[in-house]
Amino acid sequence: MASIQMKNIVKKYGDGFPAVNDVSIDIADGEFVILVGPSGCGKSTLLRMIVGLEDITSGDMVIGEKRVNDLAPRDRNLAMVFQNYALYPHLSVYENIAFPLRLAGAKDEEVDAKVREASKTLELDEHLERKPANLSGGQRQRVAMGRAIVRDADAFLFDEPLSNLDAKLRGQMRSEIARLQKKLGITTVYVTHDQTEAMTLGDRVAVLKRGLLQQLASPRELYGNPCNLFVAGFIGSPPMNFLPAEVDGTTVTLPFGSVQISAEKAERVAGKGLLIAGIRPEAFEDASVVDSGREGSTFRATVEVVEWLGNEAYAYIPFEAPPEVQQQLQQLERDLDGESLRTQLVVGLDGSSRIAEGDEAEIWVDTSKMHLFDPSTGENLT
Ligand code: ATP
Repeated sequence: MASIQMKNIVKKYGDGFPAVNDVSIDIADGEFVILVGPSGCGKSTLLRMIVGLEDITSGDMVIGEKRVNDLAPRDRNLAMVFQNYALYPHLSVYENIAFPLRLAGAKDEEVDAKVREASKTLELDEHLERKPANLSGGQRQRVAMGRAIVRDADAFLFDEPLSNLDAKLRGQMRSEIARLQKKLGITTVYVTHDQTEAMTLGDRVAVLKRGLLQQLASPRELYGNPCNLFVAGFIGSPPMNFLPAEVDGTTVTLPFGSVQISAEKAERVAGKGLLIAGIRPEAFEDASVVDSGREGSTFRATVEVVEWLGNEAYAYIPFEAPPEVQQQLQQLERDLDGESLRTQLVVGLDGSSRIAEGDEAEIWVDTSKMHLFDPSTGENLT
């Protein structure tokens, strides 16, 4: 196994805008890192440069102790697991796993020992005589990983391996990959455009936008402390709300009224004027179900729609943003592939809330969970 270091990696196709623009990421031995971002952000190009399927324009790619920029893919000792698993349909599970060893000219004895050991780890030992067509999706995935294991690869690389599967199977496979990665402790880099997949799988997640690394952090850190509007909007479902916010001391005026923030937070944004407040739906609550001792602010707003889901509900409250803020939010929507239209506040409620459509409801908000972003740079100031 090995660590992977990307140092100031740049990839240019022709003389256009770099597809990967000065990206540096250190992946520790045994770590599981996800590359995530919208279509065209450069995540697949980055993965292909690790494997050696794409030339590096500038920067250093280091695997273990070795700079591999000029090494052919076969000399990098990495195992790529593809979307369709690339299994040979006419070969048994045993022969599919054995394939890389046979290719390398290994003796039957060694092949047998390695295939049996890998298939035990992967719980495939009872299916060794089957053909891929007679396996479940999860088992096929494990055969593909088995091939990578017998090669004693230094790292696993996955490029959107689950994108062709339906939602249920995708969920199962996700936990399967996470479980196996932990069990094997093998360095893994995984590309996806799906933020849920990124958040549930990785030790750390690298969020990319137009070739630039935005933030590299644990899922918890990305969710709780996004460094800018893009990361804040990309991570989380339903997405974070963005609202115009006028700051004056510890008072923040939102479209629905004023709320109070801590003195420390106020200091960080003093004199900044109009900002964009970011508040996740779950930082809100029906004021009537919140313990009276809990710190926070309340405001009144007219609820347009309520979506009740059993143990929780979402209330939708329309609002208007001034042009300065609208411009930045429209840009954000373009960056996020127009994933969400932010013309309304989404408020998370406890399932026991009695708030109904058309109510002028009293809403509570935990302002310690409110972020304040600079509308011109998108930077999180809090
Ligand atoms: P997706 O999720 O759509 O696959 P991605 O984030 O993996 O997107 P890449 O495939 O890495 O993005 O592409 C990054 C940028 O580089 C895109 O703008 C893409 O059009 C461009 N690009 C990728 N491959 C080539 C190529 N062979 N020649 C020219 N441009 C390319």
